[in-house]
Amino acid sequence: MLKRRRDCRFILAFSILVLFMMASGMEKAHALLQSCSTDSLVGSLGLGVFCLVADKLLQFPIIQQNNWLRALSDNAIHGVIGMWSWAVVIGIKKKTNFGEVILAGFLASVIDVDHFFLARSLSLEAALTLPRRPFLHCSTVIPITVLALTLAVHLLKLRDLWCVLPWMLFVSWTSHHVRDGIRHGLWICPFGKTSPLPFWLYVITTLTLPHMCSFLMYLTGTRQMLSSKHRMHLDV
Ligand SMILES: [Zn+2]
Repeated sequence: MLKRRRDCRFILAFSILVLFMMASGMEKAHALLQSCSTDSLVGSLGLGVFCLVADKLLQFPIIQQNNWLRALSDNAIHGVIGMWSWAVVIGIKKKTNFGEVILAGFLASVIDVDHFFLARSLSLEAALTLPRRPFLHCSTVIPITVLALTLAVHLLKLRDLWCVLPWMLFVSWTSHHVRDGIRHGLWICPFGKTSPLPFWLYVITTLTLPHMCSFLMYLTGTRQMLSSKHRMHLDV
């Protein structure tokens, strides 16, 4: 198992490297400005506060004493974080496409069904006492799925929602993995797993993720394509 401080440094350095490898100079500065508007910053700060409050609420004895209530509440928090994150990415004061926001929440929540697949049972007891972590909780699955989906979108020349689906999946699944990471660490198969993530790193990563996604969408031209194709104006 890796040391906690080294894990944090690695995750932060990797995120920054990904961002700055994608572009240079004016292009980078413009994309950064576009992805950090006042509205989106207020939205992501609210998301950070939600992360702090939600986990305090989960500690209530009435929730902790009932397995189903605890599991459903935990899963609902994943869903709300997924919805909130995507709302920050596509703009929270504009005429938001609520279908997209709900889909993002669904993607963030649905990962947990792999517990039941691995348990081969609908029993919550069995799903919570697995001998190993289920496969959708392997963080390596995220870049592989995102890249495969992006390739499929390009090869099949898909448009509209399909173009944002890889980004939505990236935000929803990463937010789920990071939140699970505060208890279990990140499982980066086949390399092993990290120590449990510090709570502050979970909150910072969760509120930064929509901006990172938005920034990358500007750099790759997805935002500009969307705003000209099927939105009048698209601001974060
Ligand atoms: Zn999970």
